[in-house]
Amino acid sequence: MVDLESLFKLSYGMYIVSSKKDGKFDGCIVNTVFQLTPEPPMIAVSVNRQNLTHEYITDSKVFTVSILSEAAPTSFIGKFGFRSGRDIDKFEQVGYRIGQTGVPIILDNTIGFLEAEVTRSIDVVTHTLFIAKIVASQTLDDGKVPMTYAYYRDIKQGKTPKTAATYIKVKPKAKITEGVSNMKKYKCLMCGYIYDPAVGDSDNGVEAGTAFEDLPGDWVCPECGVGKDEFEPVED
Ligand code: FE
Repeated sequence: MVDLESLFKLSYGMYIVSSKKDGKFDGCIVNTVFQLTPEPPMIAVSVNRQNLTHEYITDSKVFTVSILSEAAPTSFIGKFGFRSGRDIDKFEQVGYRIGQTGVPIILDNTIGFLEAEVTRSIDVVTHTLFIAKIVASQTLDDGKVPMTYAYYRDIKQGKTPKTAATYIKVKPKAKITEGVSNMKKYKCLMCGYIYDPAVGDSDNGVEAGTAFEDLPGDWVCPECGVGKDEFEPVED
């Protein structure tokens, strides 16, 4: 038998892979980055063909890998993981500098980076495996721990977009908390996060028992960072 859930036992990291095209930048969350050889220093990364970042890497043949810190907030990861560079400029309000490849290196919530030049691309149906030579790399913060994919999923309760290399369709878990009877739940159209008034959003100072309508105007989805207007009521 093939137990797809056992694939979650594989260990991965959490990275923002960025690239450029025609003076524009894009980046996305990727967990499938690994070193191939020490000399020359080569890495591989698997990127979904639907991602704008895929188009940019294919065009420019260069990319950077920004290594996320365990302390990176879920909303920061969501901005790069669930939003598309076709809709928003993901680098707005994000600290970065331009590396020697001309591609942004993200400085917020990261502990280091790699810059790489693609030497070979392997078509893997839905994804492309980019094999690349590292041309620069640096540790930015030795005191912080890199985030693992397991930490993101299990501790931060992070979600996985359908375009991820490791996405597996899993049945939703049973409801833990009963909803507040007269308040509607709202679902994020971008990432599927459900705001439950019975639970609130304690990470962002919203107490249990707060109706969606009463959330502050600047409240954003704690998973992916979109505003309230991207939510719709969940019909029971
Ligand atoms: Fe969301």
